[in-house]
Amino acid sequence: MKDSFEPELAQWQAAQRMRVRRQVAPAVAPAELGPDDEALRGTTYLIDGQQRLSFGSNDYLGLSQHPALMAAAHAAIDRYGVGATASPLVCGHSPAHEALEAELAALVGLPRALYFYAGYAANVGAIPALVGRGDAVFSDALNHACLIDGIRLSRAELNVYPHGDLAALAQALQASKAQRKLVVTDAVFSMDGNVVDVPALLALCERHDAWLMVDDAHGFGVLGAQGEGTLSHQGIAGRAGVAPAWQGRVDRLIHMATLGKAAGVAGAFIAGHPAMVEWVMQKARTYMFATAAPAVVAESLRAALRVMQDEPQRRAHLQTLRQRLREGVEAARLPWTLMPSETAIQPLVIGSNADAMQVMAALDAQGVWVPAIRPPTVPEGTARLRISLSAAHTLGQIDRLVAALAQAAAG
Ligand SMILES: *Cc1c(COP(=O)(O)O)cnc(C)c1O
Repeated sequence: MKDSFEPELAQWQAAQRMRVRRQVAPAVAPAELGPDDEALRGTTYLIDGQQRLSFGSNDYLGLSQHPALMAAAHAAIDRYGVGATASPLVCGHSPAHEALEAELAALVGLPRALYFYAGYAANVGAIPALVGRGDAVFSDALNHACLIDGIRLSRAELNVYPHGDLAALAQALQASKAQRKLVVTDAVFSMDGNVVDVPALLALCERHDAWLMVDDAHGFGVLGAQGEGTLSHQGIAGRAGVAPAWQGRVDRLIHMATLGKAAGVAGAFIAGHPAMVEWVMQKARTYMFATAAPAVVAESLRAALRVMQDEPQRRAHLQTLRQRLREGVEAARLPWTLMPSETAIQPLVIGSNADAMQVMAALDAQGVWVPAIRPPTVPEGTARLRISLSAAHTLGQIDRLVAALAQAAAG
């Protein structure tokens, strides 16, 4: 082990790729926050013991410490205890899970939903349930790692098309002789923040008799009038059901979204035609051979779905913060640019790994935490600060970030 891995680690370190975990905890326990320090909730953390204003979480709606979710969690523990005790197909599926699935399906306007304990597990389980040898999968070049792992596990033929290039995708679909064709894409790309054109993709899949799987990890909760996500934002389906223009046309769609980001808790779901969902439940190995998420998670999520719908001002505030950041960055004439993004993900491209690390350190020294994202997560030469906004942030906190960036640029 020493001979194998110490040199590998040294090389890794030399390439500026070494990752370290930081110990992160709320600066003030959420249960102890007074009215004067509400701005700390979901924004300010002790990071390795140092207080920092954080732009690193995927807690886009600021629900991870929301009192309604915390109250639901306490009540669920009193009702169910803490452990699910078995896989959902044995005895880990509770009334809380059943209700959550019905509420998820109703929110996204699709007939049925299946809850998984993690998004990683949903993708790695669902894709091999849907396709196998002799089938073909068409995958956007920037797809999330767990989609790629799911495709590999399926043993279907993998065709990667250039990011967002629907003409190249159309050609590949046309050329394929596979029995079943599945197009797989992120709805919102996690390191760029841009949104795909789902209506165009669905229309393309109709023409080539392909299925479409959309991973809405970063759109769910953030986009759509009720937080339904990208499909609602683009007029396909949402709380009000399937839009008239898409009636009868969503059966080829596999909708997936995660619940540990904007929904503030943990897990994920797939939704779509009831027969597809039933088949995934029967076949997905990550569903069958893993202990269910505890009922406390399901009940916390049910509270999250209520807040998402009852507090639309969270999404409106997020858009106000986004505008403030973009205007602030422009006015500060920074040497770096924000990628175009209408979501909570606002990446600032720096370039080299070393420069990105340096800017991150300069911000850190000013009490502001923004994670640098480096290859292989993003392409070489595009290391960036992944600024992630949350409805928990205040306008003043955005101004503080912009001032810290200006200072970092000057230094
Ligand atoms: C985070 C993420 C996942 C994984 O979800 P987890 O619940 O964190 O396992 C899947 N797909 C995308 C696009 C993601 O960003």
